[in-house]
Amino acid sequence: MLACLLVALMPWPSGAQTDPSSTSTTEQQSTTTSASPTTTEQQSTTTTAGATTTTAGATTTTTTAGATTTSGVVTSQLEATTTSGLTAEEKAEKAKLDAAAAAKAQEIDAANAQLGDLSDALGVLNKRVKDQSARVDYANSQVADAETKVKENEAAVAEAEAALNALEARLQGQAIRNFMGEGGDSTAVFVTGDPNTSMRMQTMLAEVTQSDIDFSDTLVAAKEDLEVQRADAQNAVEQAQTLRADADNELAILRGDRQAQANLTSSAEDRLDHLLAERANLGALGAQVDTGDEAKLISTLKNSSSSTPPPDASVQIPATVSESEIKLAGNGIKVHESIVAQVQALLTDAAAAGFDLGGGGYRDPSAQIATRKSNCGTSTYAIYQMPASQCSPPTARPGQSMHERGLAIDFTSGGQLIRSRSSAAFVWLSNNAAKYGLYNLPSEAWHWSVNGK
Ligand SMILES: [Zn+2]
Repeated sequence: MLACLLVALMPWPSGAQTDPSSTSTTEQQSTTTSASPTTTEQQSTTTTAGATTTTAGATTTTTTAGATTTSGVVTSQLEATTTSGLTAEEKAEKAKLDAAAAAKAQEIDAANAQLGDLSDALGVLNKRVKDQSARVDYANSQVADAETKVKENEAAVAEAEAALNALEARLQGQAIRNFMGEGGDSTAVFVTGDPNTSMRMQTMLAEVTQSDIDFSDTLVAAKEDLEVQRADAQNAVEQAQTLRADADNELAILRGDRQAQANLTSSAEDRLDHLLAERANLGALGAQVDTGDEAKLISTLKNSSSSTPPPDASVQIPATVSESEIKLAGNGIKVHESIVAQVQALLTDAAAAGFDLGGGGYRDPSAQIATRKSNCGTSTYAIYQMPASQCSPPTARPGQSMHERGLAIDFTSGGQLIRSRSSAAFVWLSNNAAKYGLYNLPSEAWHWSVNGK
């Protein structure tokens, strides 16, 4: 009973006593309600985190080394994360613009676009992947920082709990000693009804209360500290979760970007195959053709070669046609037997219209294979699958050209390659060739095939 009395006299709530379960419940509630007093603490915590982030951001910039623009993105992201909401809006706006530019780049018609435009589109996707990789790195570094902070906060909570427990234990011991007196037996005192008891109790309680008022201030401070630490810890956990979700999101975007880059790279490699094979065909016709931005395309492809597929164990060797299936349609043009009749009919009709068409059709892939062995390597992968841009000098993959199947013709008119889409011969072909199952490749006025490729 006296213990209860003494406890009731003490200036701290009875809930502060020793039951850990009831204590933690009370404290969790008070943590929630006492949010505003801890604001100052939380702000200072955030500032510290910001400082840590700056260091991490700088580290990211160094590791992703690449272009100045990459570090620029990291820097602007850094600012967006550590400064005002306005910058965050700008960050969102920039991300939107980047995504729109990447989406536009993916829409390019790789088979027909100007080579310079194709290179530019591929360059946009290459840069996009690089920037997005930097965003992922940065997001991951933020997660790592946040997780470190979570651990630090957990340690701080444990420390605060230990401090509080020690204080409570000391307080209990002090209270008991005060009751017992120095070596005395308080039970005996109260039971015997000693006439001095009343006076002694008053003196003792006065001393106990005064000493414990000081002590309880320390205890209350320890409790408040624990509450602040717990609030910080909870805040750190939530921040880490948010950052982890952000990082996952950035990674998903990166995967999409890489896929888009791989797709356009593949299309651009097809285009390069065609260009290089075409050049060989035209050489056989004694014609030269301006390859325009071919060097730029090759250079850009080399920069995006990281997205090209690794060597495939099951390399598909393109189906080839047998020499016996190749027939002369007329005017020196050899084609696959499946289209020889329609090509003959086209040549006849063109002659009737006043056009002396000639040109080159089928091309034996064996020369191309020999060149690939020399320029790309002798493995099956090197001969048939390695992207043309990775050979030295760049060399078209065998079997990719419609000429190698006897299904394409490069037309000459009067012995001259048809280069212009405004030439009379081209206009006649564009009005009539479809009747004979031949279609033009828009980027090359001379090239006609069963599928326009
Ligand atoms: Zn051609």
